[in-house]
Amino acid sequence: MTHVITSLCLRDNGCVAVCPVKCIYPGEPASQWPTFFIDPTTCTDCGSCVPECPFDAIFPLTEVPGAYLARGGEYVNQVGLTGRYEGFDHHGNKIVLDTARLLAAGEIIDLRSSIKETVMWSCHFLDI
Ligand code: SF4
Ligand code: SF4
Repeated sequence: MTHVITSLCLRDNGCVAVCPVKCIYPGEPASQWPTFFIDPTTCTDCGSCVPECPFDAIFPLTEVPGAYLARGGEYVNQVGLTGRYEGFDHHGNKIVLDTARLLAAGEIIDLRSSIKETVMWSCHFLDI
């Protein structure tokens, strides 16, 4: 089992330092892999990263929402979107994303595409 970073991730970077097995990586290039990713071959499912994410982007694999109910004001960040997000990460570095979209309160979105993205990124990252 593994945890999965969903498209709610805005590259805040706060989760990386707390992972005891160092299996969280920024997607690079960000234009192709806009979020951070968890290497599922190394993740021990400990859950330590979950409370570190200011955007509540991390879920256990089996709990990734198929019908995520937006509070309003959060962003999704994925290839194909063309909106802009600007902010600062956990370390105070400026973050600019051109693959984002602001969600409206009450909007319902399927975050499970992040599972497929994680598999694709893993093949890319592990070169398999
Ligand atoms: S803390 Fe959340 S937003 Fe930041 S990199 Fe990790 S998953 Fe992404
Ligand atoms: S669940 Fe634990 S091992 Fe997996 S990415 Fe998060 S902190 Fe790392």
